Amino acid sequence: MDPAKRASVGARSESQLEEQVKDWLRYGEDLGLAPFYRDRPPLHAIAEAAPTRVESHTAATSSDFSAAVRAAMAAAAPGRAPAAPINVVPSAPQKSAPAATILPATAPSLFEAIERIAGDTLPRIREDIGDCTRCKLHKGRTKIVFGTGNPNADLMFVGEGPGRDEDLSGEPFVGRAGKLLTDMIKAMGLQRENVYIANVVKCRPPENRLPEKDEITTCSPFLMRQIDAIKPKVICTLGSCSAQTLLQTALGISKLRGEWFDFRGTKLMPTYHPAYLLRNPAAKPEVWKDLQKVMAVLGLQPKKR
Ligand code: URA
Repeated sequence: MDPAKRASVGARSESQLEEQVKDWLRYGEDLGLAPFYRDRPPLHAIAEAAPTRVESHTAATSSDFSAAVRAAMAAAAPGRAPAAPINVVPSAPQKSAPAATILPATAPSLFEAIERIAGDTLPRIREDIGDCTRCKLHKGRTKIVFGTGNPNADLMFVGEGPGRDEDLSGEPFVGRAGKLLTDMIKAMGLQRENVYIANVVKCRPPENRLPEKDEITTCSPFLMRQIDAIKPKVICTLGSCSAQTLLQTALGISKLRGEWFDFRGTKLMPTYHPAYLLRNPAAKPEVWKDLQKVMAVLGLQPKKR
């Protein structure tokens, strides 16, 4: 290759790399883990581990990761007969909900390729998790935080993973961020018992670090099963981890929030994590805007003061 061309290609990939690393660091910052990178490997190692950036709001597929999740799904549902593979064509918006602009998925998402288990229930899923030792997170956990709330909820919130309070109690979102989430739910005219709350990973990452890719791959099939069993009308993801996991994108939460996405036929609204709001209360109006979009779809009125 001629040297000028090589230099221009080199500069481009360097800037792409820089963008990837920035996205990754922003992700940690959004979750209130600003100094998380200090004791991490050199930047080139982080960049290699960072997910591929996608340039549009599409659900990207990764065949390696997909294969890993399929294997994890099979491991997550021992002896459960899967239903026929689901159609990978994005489904039409639900009839009952008012029209909302939903960003189309031009490629089938990773989880669209996952088979649904006919007649799956939350107790069965919990039973399949058992006293889980599938990933390294089990070593430091006190309690598995499965999820809580109405098994027939129209609205499901998905966070990242348990923190200290959740690890001790076995319930999601009971710490400071949890109290803020409860207030957000009440402001929407609901109670915690009306919605379902779960996380991407069910065991606390040590020192509240970000869940790692292998941990997400191992645990997220249980979240998929929970979503399939509950069949919510709307999924509201909290923070980067859950949005990026379900939408299979590396886009940062600030680019994703406030837009409707289709997740296997269910509307999905990404918003900021309550832990981020605790550090950045100025972002609360943005979250309220996102929640109002959810309320419009679900026909909810804000709580009267
Ligand atoms: N943060 C999360 O993402 N989930 C919890 O359950 C608690 C805090």
